[in-house]
Amino acid sequence: MSQISYISKQVADLKPSGIRRFFDLAAQMEDVISLGVGEPDFVTPWNVIEQSFHSLEQGYTSYTENAGMMELRQEISKYLSGSYHLTYDPSDQLIVSVGASQAIDLALRAVIDPGDEVIVVEPSFVAYVPTVRLAGGIPVTVQTEAEDEFKLKPEQIEEAITSKTKAIILCNPNNPTGTLLLQEELEQLAIVIEKHNLLVLSDEIYAELTYDDAYTSFPTVPKMKERTILISGFSKAFAMTGWRLGYAAGPTEIIAAMVKIHQYTMMCAPTMAQHAALEAMKNGRQSVESMFESYKQRRNFIVSSLNEIGLQCPNPGGAFYAFPSIKATGLTSAEFAEQLLQEEQVAVVPGSVFGANGEGYIRCSYATSLKQLDEALNRMKRFVQKRM
Ligand code: PMP
Repeated sequence: MSQISYISKQVADLKPSGIRRFFDLAAQMEDVISLGVGEPDFVTPWNVIEQSFHSLEQGYTSYTENAGMMELRQEISKYLSGSYHLTYDPSDQLIVSVGASQAIDLALRAVIDPGDEVIVVEPSFVAYVPTVRLAGGIPVTVQTEAEDEFKLKPEQIEEAITSKTKAIILCNPNNPTGTLLLQEELEQLAIVIEKHNLLVLSDEIYAELTYDDAYTSFPTVPKMKERTILISGFSKAFAMTGWRLGYAAGPTEIIAAMVKIHQYTMMCAPTMAQHAALEAMKNGRQSVESMFESYKQRRNFIVSSLNEIGLQCPNPGGAFYAFPSIKATGLTSAEFAEQLLQEEQVAVVPGSVFGANGEGYIRCSYATSLKQLDEALNRMKRFVQKRM
């Protein structure tokens, strides 16, 4: 007799994250060096942790306003204005969310009608395609090319557009490739975006981690602010992944719609984490800068080491991922990652989980100490030498 399943078709059809599957495997092994999960190895700066204790001592244990504490929204607004000259009214153009993850989900649910198409630029962060689907939309993937440094070209947007296209998700700097789109490249994309009246979800969670070139926040590109939902958060720059705190800034109408969903589904982001984030915004700059310096050193180390062992790897402009080619080994990215884990206990993520053009590449997170990176690279060298 066949068993009845109560799971919705939409959810039953979702594939589990290719990254998680791998890390569950790694968790069962000993002496594994993980270059896998995209999270800082640093502990959250102490003053930030301490401030959340203080908030609890002072009895701040209830809900906050749905959109987040006004003082925190004011600080975020000040930060966006100070860093990028972007003006967002903290009273109705900003929402504090449970990580950038929730901001992405809210943004998509606020704007998508069933059947709307959303362009997702691959290789991409693994959450975009499923969250578009869960919101009732249809993800339309566009494949960037290694020979273009995985940079999206305006004509690729043109080719993907249909009468149903509503939005495009941009991630700059990109996870997993580390690609950084520069001002003039964003301006070229903006021409097509405006021509077709698209909404933009600009995921800028790695904006603080750009190493060589100046960073351009997408809504600063002329005429883009009124059609962009800027998404960011505290996880990466402040090493606060576990606090689950992010935010979105955008046009009043869209933020109001996001707050409407948020108030029924989440009420507000965790209060103690909001107090911590407030401290991070006010007094966290020095910590961000010192972590940034470490990431930069690690990036330089991992990129030169990967190239030395024969895995061709361009210099990523931002985030904390190297995305080397493993084509010279003759293995698929999944074979490479599985065999590397079994033989040398080094965990990396197969590029194929990030989209079709990720095949032939692996993602190595360098948010880990130089000592660990050095050991991981020695192991990878041994592994690669047996195959080339
Ligand atoms: N966007 C991108 C591109 C990411 O890489 C991540 C985390 N891996 C997120 C969003 C989610 O971040 P948060 O912890 O703020 O939910």
